Amino acid sequence: MAKDYYKILGVSENASKEDIKKAYKRLAKKYHPDLNKTEPDAAERFKEINEAASVLGDEKKRAQYDRFGSTSEGFGGGSQGFDFSDFGFSDFGFDFEDIFDTFFSRGFGRQSRGPRRGADLRYELEITLEEAAFGTKKNIVVPRMEKCEECKGTGALSDSDIAVCDKCNGRGRIQNIKRTPFGIFSTTTACPKCHGEGKIIKNPCPKCNGTGLVHHDRKIEIRIPEGVDDGNELRIAGGGEAGAKNGSPGDLYVVINVKPHDMFQRKNNDIHIDVPISFAQAALGDEIEVPTLKGRAKLKIPAGTQTNTIFRMKGKGIPNLHGYGTGSENVKVIVETPTNLTKKQKELLREFEKGTKKKKGVFDFL
Ligand SMILES: [Zn+2]
Ligand SMILES: [Zn+2]
Repeated sequence: MAKDYYKILGVSENASKEDIKKAYKRLAKKYHPDLNKTEPDAAERFKEINEAASVLGDEKKRAQYDRFGSTSEGFGGGSQGFDFSDFGFSDFGFDFEDIFDTFFSRGFGRQSRGPRRGADLRYELEITLEEAAFGTKKNIVVPRMEKCEECKGTGALSDSDIAVCDKCNGRGRIQNIKRTPFGIFSTTTACPKCHGEGKIIKNPCPKCNGTGLVHHDRKIEIRIPEGVDDGNELRIAGGGEAGAKNGSPGDLYVVINVKPHDMFQRKNNDIHIDVPISFAQAALGDEIEVPTLKGRAKLKIPAGTQTNTIFRMKGKGIPNLHGYGTGSENVKVIVETPTNLTKKQKELLREFEKGTKKKKGVFDFL
């Protein structure tokens, strides 16, 4: 069993890359033999710390270490990266940041050689409350980068225009060896000629200028499910931008904006509306017609209804997005005080008032 690298760096086995990076930087500064002259085993600790970080800082090596307790490559891994055995521990101006970034950038380096996933896109779609309630289909136009059909995404005029990079022999990486009085110091960087791709294009495709991608305003039909609400996001897998070098496409996120309604206010799956009724309708009772999301509906107003009373019309609201029932329409009746009365109406009202048994007034409570 190899050394416990997690223990050496003082991090847990669930530590994130960021945690490992922090722990490494802290310990490397502490035990750097040039900075730490008091502890005799500082150089040994420093070596251990670097070894631990070179494994835990590299996703592939870390996974291997987690499974098998060691890495097959061992350390001082020649062309792969740092040769710690040759690492002279005196200060010749190296930068902790640089070293660590080298561990961490390996994953990226590998990615940049091959296909890259396309970017995700976001599209804001405005719909009406009725459309949100009952679902709809919408055709939208998404401006995005798509795979160039001319070159099938390769970026080359023809297949014979794709050549192996002669600077890195197709590896995509260049090893730089620096000799110092303390040993050989080797780093690996992306090939500057092919930008890490290992291939160069002699004659680029004229349609996409060698990128393999072209701009296209793509029409997409979006199905809006019933019950969506303002701010909901619909994910269209693969609806985003095409990936470079035939990489997988990103996703399209359609963000729903529901326009305010002239009459209804929505609250979760319920809708609310204020409906005016006359004084006589409130007093005597009536059956009125109220607007709903699907045309008109009848609502019975019982005699003696007070203003601001809310009547709940079950099932007249918005269906639940996940199919769990339908909300209600809540109708608040507003009793209107009559104005512009005729002489006759005024007389009748006075008559009515005389016959009404007086309720307690405000002053009766004082
Ligand atoms: Zn092309
Ligand atoms: Zn190259």
